[in-house]
Amino acid sequence: MSAQQGLAIVTGAGSGLGRAIALKLTADGFAVAALDLDESAVRETARLAGGKALALQADVSRAAELDRAVTAAVAELGPLEAMVNNAGILDGYFDVDEMDEALWRKVIDIDLTGVFLGCKRALREMLPRQRGRIVNMASVAGLNGTGGGAAYIAAKHGVVGLTRQMAVQYGARGIRTNCVCPGPVATGLRAHSQAILGPGVPDMSGRGVAVNDDMVRALVPAGVRGTPGNIADAVAFLASGAADYINGHALVVDGGWRAK
Ligand code: NAD
Repeated sequence: MSAQQGLAIVTGAGSGLGRAIALKLTADGFAVAALDLDESAVRETARLAGGKALALQADVSRAAELDRAVTAAVAELGPLEAMVNNAGILDGYFDVDEMDEALWRKVIDIDLTGVFLGCKRALREMLPRQRGRIVNMASVAGLNGTGGGAAYIAAKHGVVGLTRQMAVQYGARGIRTNCVCPGPVATGLRAHSQAILGPGVPDMSGRGVAVNDDMVRALVPAGVRGTPGNIADAVAFLASGAADYINGHALVVDGGWRAK
């Protein structure tokens, strides 16, 4: 295993952005532990990484599962250099008045508490060594009041705030914390979120601000969706030594959407 950059853990690495991030970090010389709720999906990511990545099944909203996975990754691959808290789900695009409390809690649990738990567990490895890089997955929905329903937008704003608070608190102790805010990227996010949330959530395939090419053209100055590779490049940069003086930043990767 080429591990000259040390261990990087990527959550939600079974598909979409997380898979692209795991493959990019592997190519960049990290020993990658790819973690996901979906075990067969994350095994496929490890296979695509040429067998170089370690596949781990865990739910990021459960501290004990995350703890077990991180402990296993460190035992097998060495000290944790980079933690990428990417796992997340959409929320059915409900506004507050129509959102069920249980659905709100589930989305906050995965999208915000899951990132908090990932950061907290990573710090247990990083603080004693006084070094580490954390990259959290936010969204343009973490900066704007659009791009999801109430729970998704609140959670992603929370991820941006958590990232900034950690940057301030841990910057002097050798740990950099940043986040990435993607615009629209074609992934299985709607379908996976639908499956994870289960019954009671409307069909998400036609909901949102960028559901077809015409909407994307109208929304994004670039005129097209981003690719998972575009987002992986940004995450890999923030996880690298090239970003050593960048801390507490929310890096927007959206083809210019937010510039409007
Ligand atoms: P995706 O559904 O393809 O990937 C998300 C992965 O996270 C899935 O493999 C899923 O199984 C996993 N996951 C979900 N809940 C989990 C949990 N509790 N524990 C462990 N793993 C879990 O979607 P994606 O588009 O690649 O999304 C990745 C991240 O990017 C999410 O945080 C999402 O909010 C964010 N994002 C995506 C877009 C986009 O347009 N696709 C835009 C902005 C932000």
